[in-house]
Amino acid sequence: MAENEQMICYRCQKELQPAKTYLSYLGHSFFTDMLKCPECGEVYIPEELVKGRIAEVEMQLEDK
Ligand SMILES: [Zn+2]
Repeated sequence: MAENEQMICYRCQKELQPAKTYLSYLGHSFFTDMLKCPECGEVYIPEELVKGRIAEVEMQLEDK
């Protein structure tokens, strides 16, 4: 039912828009699509995504 779930900026009450965002974590950097408020530029980073990325990075580090 919540297929068209839209994130709303809690400050501006605007719909967040997907935008290419540059992230860096522990020396690793990558571009990814993040939901961003067109008004104030606040980026919403889903917890699951962050955890997934971090797990990925940690796995790569352990590999070496
Ligand atoms: Zn905003």
